[in-house]
Amino acid sequence: MKGNVRVESEAHHQLKSGEYWRDLPAFESVSAQEFETHLFQQRHTVTSVAQLREVLGKVVPESFYADLAAGIANAPMALRISPHLLSLIDWSAPESDPIRLQFLPLRSGQKADHPMLQLDSLGERKDSPVPGLTHRYADKALFLPVDSCPVYCRFCTRSYAVGADTEFVGEKLKLHASLQRWENAFAYIESHPELEDIVISGGDSFNLKADHIELIGMRLLGIPHIRRLRFATKGLSVLPQKILSDHRWTDSLTRVVEQARKLHKTAVVHTHFNSPNEIVDITRRAMNVLVERGITVRCQTVLQAGVNNSARAMQLLVKRLGHVNIQPYYVYFHDMVPGVEDLRTSLGEGLSIEKHVRGVTAGFHTPAFVVDTMGGGGKRDAHSHEHYDRETGIAVFTSPSVKPGQWFLYFDPLESLAPDIQARWEIATERRAMIDDALREAGAGSGDPVACAVR
Ligand SMILES: *Cc1c(COP(=O)(O)O)cnc(C)c1O
Ligand code: SF4
Repeated sequence: MKGNVRVESEAHHQLKSGEYWRDLPAFESVSAQEFETHLFQQRHTVTSVAQLREVLGKVVPESFYADLAAGIANAPMALRISPHLLSLIDWSAPESDPIRLQFLPLRSGQKADHPMLQLDSLGERKDSPVPGLTHRYADKALFLPVDSCPVYCRFCTRSYAVGADTEFVGEKLKLHASLQRWENAFAYIESHPELEDIVISGGDSFNLKADHIELIGMRLLGIPHIRRLRFATKGLSVLPQKILSDHRWTDSLTRVVEQARKLHKTAVVHTHFNSPNEIVDITRRAMNVLVERGITVRCQTVLQAGVNNSARAMQLLVKRLGHVNIQPYYVYFHDMVPGVEDLRTSLGEGLSIEKHVRGVTAGFHTPAFVVDTMGGGGKRDAHSHEHYDRETGIAVFTSPSVKPGQWFLYFDPLESLAPDIQARWEIATERRAMIDDALREAGAGSGDPVACAVR
């Protein structure tokens, strides 16, 4: 990556506006007043190939629908996409569109999984003292009150629990909204005074009822040792209309944030944008409401091939997020989950992109590039690897504050490696040898615990 890759000075201000949804046959006569409501978006959310055909008709050839149906049969996540996102896809070139890539799996684009992949790659179930609560770090925990989202991302790390069962994954862990289950989580949090910080995720906070946002928020803020709450939602990217039209929901969130402020605590929103194309005029209007109410919003992005794996795309994303007052917080290297190998990038590629992003804008708007280590070591700064063998694509991390004494591994996608190395990965004894070499180079002793089993 050489030369001038800086974003031209205006590109991040230019947000798509107008009635672009009218290009799709089903939405041709839908007015802005109707399209820009959460009720329209929810009612017309597409969950099957048949429904997609009703929306798009002949905008794409018949072969696209067949490719998609085959892709879904081979994917860990069920299909679910909002009209908002559907209308932002460039249907003249859907194969390479960054939004299509994230939500609509095409069989022709899928790649064989890396031999070291695993479902629940982060080991969240292992660090769960009660169902739907992951307590891995000393002072913070992840609470999963629901298992549904307004849309389903192909690459979801929680495909072990989130979304409808699929043939690919089989029966998922069920984490439905349930006051009894939540009470168990609150009781655990209450009895652990070291916990200061709760991430309310899921699933997605957008799928919690307004009353439940308030119930959960107020209950947690009432626990003396809890200082910080974050509501995690992809909603601002996939259904920003809700902030503008679901007044009860937005007001409930606002009341929790105000109550936090009154108690000298903080409650914020963490959202998830991956492509600069997801930030359009209505995103800015939704953000303006939250800004006026003093609600802080931060963004967690996943680094993905074809979506944002270029210096330009990542710079534009970071600048655009800043423009609408969203603070870029993390860029995650893609988790090693099955069925989405085509989206992963190598560690080396991501490290290079990071170098091109740092310095483009304010330091506090510059995301940290992190690897959430397989096997539960937590998030590690990608640059902090103990060893990285670019030839075999093996990176070794430690996590002294979370899982002292253990070693964690990240593997580059096979396609990024030379053919002879790819061939070595096919053979179990060769895999073992390459991993042992990397661990030795990193300084691991022969008997040290390694957080992922070699299959
Ligand atoms: C990511 C995560 C958190 C929050 O971590 P931050 O680095 O503070 O954003 C908490 N618990 C779990 C299990 C997580 O995966
Ligand atoms: S919104 Fe988040 S939890 Fe829901 S499917 Fe997407 S990545 Fe998974």
